[in-house]
Amino acid sequence: MRAGPVAGVLAFMGYDIDSPREAGSTRRDVLGVAAVLLAGGAFTAVAGPVPQAAAESEPDGGCGLGYDAEFEEALADADEAIPEDRARDPEKPRRKFALPIRRDFRVSARYGIRGNWLAGHHTGIDLAVPTGTPVHAVGAGTVVLARWSGAYGKAVTVRLRDGHYAVYAHLSRISVRRGERVRAGERLGRSGSTGRATGPHLHLEIRTKRRYGSDVNPVRYLAKRGARLL
Ligand SMILES: [Zn+2]
Repeated sequence: MRAGPVAGVLAFMGYDIDSPREAGSTRRDVLGVAAVLLAGGAFTAVAGPVPQAAAESEPDGGCGLGYDAEFEEALADADEAIPEDRARDPEKPRRKFALPIRRDFRVSARYGIRGNWLAGHHTGIDLAVPTGTPVHAVGAGTVVLARWSGAYGKAVTVRLRDGHYAVYAHLSRISVRRGERVRAGERLGRSGSTGRATGPHLHLEIRTKRRYGSDVNPVRYLAKRGARLL
């Protein structure tokens, strides 16, 4: 290519004219912008595409789940009514953890993304899977709630042995009962899109306490206990 005013402007802009795609633009786009500059056009023309910052605040995958009074009240009542699981198996000092989904899934909404939730962020992780996919307990504990729960749809809440709570929401079917003890890996039900969900996915939430907003990153929680979700 001849060195000329266009090439000079491109160099000024930081473009490598031999591989313009590396700059995220086609060669024609780059030359077009250069032409605008040469013609005395506004310098803002080089700003490039507008960052898609707003896109991440949307609960992609259809999880509109936030604070739900019906769920929180039912959970509080049930949790107090069901005694603490003090059972300890001395033969198994290391408590195992398991993955909630045993097939391929897509993360349709990560934990912690900012958005229009009461907590200000997504309180769980959304794993998009077809309706009917078996959902397994991530850890051993006691089922404190297994019923329709407003925005959570058909949901199961397990009080884990370490005092954390695991919430599995939007299920199509529940196969455990309140008060039942479950082991890690045990099937709790099947995934679905019940409650405030526009697409089938499992919303998995880990809370350090019973109350809404005490959530932690489920991926990190499970990874520390030997179960790698991602
Ligand atoms: Zn969710």
